[in-house]
Amino acid sequence: MYTSVMKFYLAETVISKIRDNGALNTPSVVFDERVLSQTYAIMDPIRRRSSVTLLYPLKANSLETVLYRIRDYVDGFAVSSLFEAKLARSVFGPHGRLHFTSPWLSANDAEELASLCEYVSFNSMRQLEQYGQLFSCNSQIGLRVNTQLSLVGDVRYDPAAVPSKLGVPLDDVAYVLKLDQSLLESVAGVLVHANCEATGFDDLTRVIDTLAERVPTLLKQISWINLGGGYLFDETTNWEPFASAVERLQKDFCLEVIFEPGKGVIGEAGSILTTVVDLFQSGGEDIAVLDTTVNHMPEVFEYQYRPSVAEEVEEGQYTYRLYGCTCLAGDYFGAYRFASPLTVGTRLCFEDMGAYTLVKAHMFNGINLPTIYTIDAKGNLSKSREFKYEDFLARNTG
Ligand SMILES: *Cc1c(COP(=O)(O)O)cnc(C)c1O
Repeated sequence: MYTSVMKFYLAETVISKIRDNGALNTPSVVFDERVLSQTYAIMDPIRRRSSVTLLYPLKANSLETVLYRIRDYVDGFAVSSLFEAKLARSVFGPHGRLHFTSPWLSANDAEELASLCEYVSFNSMRQLEQYGQLFSCNSQIGLRVNTQLSLVGDVRYDPAAVPSKLGVPLDDVAYVLKLDQSLLESVAGVLVHANCEATGFDDLTRVIDTLAERVPTLLKQISWINLGGGYLFDETTNWEPFASAVERLQKDFCLEVIFEPGKGVIGEAGSILTTVVDLFQSGGEDIAVLDTTVNHMPEVFEYQYRPSVAEEVEEGQYTYRLYGCTCLAGDYFGAYRFASPLTVGTRLCFEDMGAYTLVKAHMFNGINLPTIYTIDAKGNLSKSREFKYEDFLARNTG
């Protein structure tokens, strides 16, 4: 978990260029479109061979500028709320396909969501009963199924944990089918997102085996299956298990196969640039305070992981404890080694920060959000958003 699977070619060169560019604000998030196109290119052969419908989940990163880039590589977007659905539709226009799933479907939002989304995967039998008819006019009705096949060690990340709020447990689906198959006759698809940061596709074989064994009648009566995301990949990834799973679903069950990786495509495309703002000793350790905070990358704190810093040198002689700048004692990234001493003003670059950072970031302590820069396909860098006091005020007034 939490290890970056690969370094793209630009990591070293571009990061050092960005770091040394004094004109850039820090803290900032820099998105590199070229990394995005490289990641999607990795999937080209498999898509040509297996014709998989590719969606991008806004959950991982919903910056409009990023979405406009991703739009060129995918068939549609996956969304979890009305806000995401509206943004997704406005970026994609009428031709993109939106897939909605969420444990909460508000009665206030249902009608608009139904008009925006071509696919819906209801999270529970109650959602299906309550909203099936409304959605059936415009959307293909699906069911999120909890495979009950736990693939992720950390339960906080495991959609298939027991118990789980995500999807109808496979036992229940099998029971309903046995009881009265017609109860699921409106269901045209299933969503089986069941993984997180898996670095190979062997798990997918197990997921499909489980479904084929437990609910073959369901697979025969539906027309699509959404495999979700939760997989990381690079140029060295073995796609054979993925291809075989897809081919099996297409040949044996005539299914359209949908895949919607989030972190796998956007993670490496984003870096967070920060500046050392203070240095001192405490308890015999060298402390470096940065102008960023774990609140710009909340999973560092939530899941206690140690983010990768581009300048770190394994054998470096200078060790610093890197802290975020808020008043929270635990606003801490970890101890890192460097080849030369840090000074106030040294710039550092956190890597693999494209996913689950800005979407979760907040302004605790009144610390501003990172400025957003994008690097386009030609390598040109531009500022796409700088947050201001007014943004802080907007969340705190009214
Ligand atoms: C979170 C999620 C994804 C994307 O997961 P990644 O781990 O970012 O690839 C895709 N589909 C669904 C339904 C999800 O909940």
